[in-house]
Amino acid sequence: MQNAVPERPRRADEPLPEAREVAFHIWKITVPIPFPLRTVNMHALVGEDGWVLVDTGMGTPDARAALKAGMERAHLRLDNLRAIVLTHHHPDHVGLSGELHEKSGAKVYMHPIDETAIQIFWSHAMPQRFGRVSKFFLQHGLPQTQLWLSHVEPRTMDDIIRVPPHEAITMVEDGDEIDLLGERYQVIWTPGHADGQICLFRARDGVFLAADHVLPRITPNIGLYSQNERPNPLQDYLASLAKVANLPARIVLPGHGEPFADLKGRTSEIALHHEEREALLLAMLKEQPQHAYQLAGQLFQGRLKSDEALRMGVAEVIAHLEHMRYNGLLQQEHTADDFILYTVA
Ligand SMILES: [Zn+2]
Ligand SMILES: [Zn+2]
Repeated sequence: MQNAVPERPRRADEPLPEAREVAFHIWKITVPIPFPLRTVNMHALVGEDGWVLVDTGMGTPDARAALKAGMERAHLRLDNLRAIVLTHHHPDHVGLSGELHEKSGAKVYMHPIDETAIQIFWSHAMPQRFGRVSKFFLQHGLPQTQLWLSHVEPRTMDDIIRVPPHEAITMVEDGDEIDLLGERYQVIWTPGHADGQICLFRARDGVFLAADHVLPRITPNIGLYSQNERPNPLQDYLASLAKVANLPARIVLPGHGEPFADLKGRTSEIALHHEEREALLLAMLKEQPQHAYQLAGQLFQGRLKSDEALRMGVAEVIAHLEHMRYNGLLQQEHTADDFILYTVA
């Protein structure tokens, strides 16, 4: 079964595509993705009479092979997949949702903000949408870049990312309780990494399905990617961190990386990281007014190697700059050649 998973070089601390029971009747199935994080976790919640899948990876050939192997290892069959919970709209979390829903008839849950996003991003309105996104980045100094998905044939794209139709999705909001195979889960809306991201908390035994809100090893990407999003994602994110910090969680199951226990400790570390980064950016802006792309170059020092990583890095810097601007520390200056510079207020 292991041979079904193609070999590729990895960092020593990175989990291989694998399927492992990480808590009683909860399986973590880790599959490869063509993005800087390299793997994503799906979580299977197994009950008496079927199972529930939290997030769905993408439909690339190596991810399909890893999912198949993982399901075999965990003795999971599609005919009794009862529900799919999609934590947020990113392609590595929703890619196979349309196909798995069609094959199983599973009920699909999502927050309305990100449900709107998947219909916009992963339906055919995409090129128009991304045209607006690149204008936004150009103003912040980023040269034209290629999106990963622009390299993919439209037909292949359908295999890799396909989402259920709007009518098939059950919307869930902050504070809702949903029943999944007889267990109660609290829905916690955690905007920041994505505007409509949700986490699930099972109070009975402290299982916290953290999506990409709180990750171990790396800090989640908090970026502003267009003028159509909530305007201050870092402020949202810090409020969402505070919202979950004191949950009585016994195990945190993140969207990337390994499970961990110390939720409160990790939220403090991440909040501190953002404070430190803002102090660095402020110091750079005291030297001279700059746009986000120039600042990202100094901050990341050539570490942003792919177009994908570059866009994410610049979007993170914009999120920090906007957070500081809303807090009265910075101002924007529009130049004659249509760039947005930031200056110390
Ligand atoms: Zn994500
Ligand atoms: Zn993710």
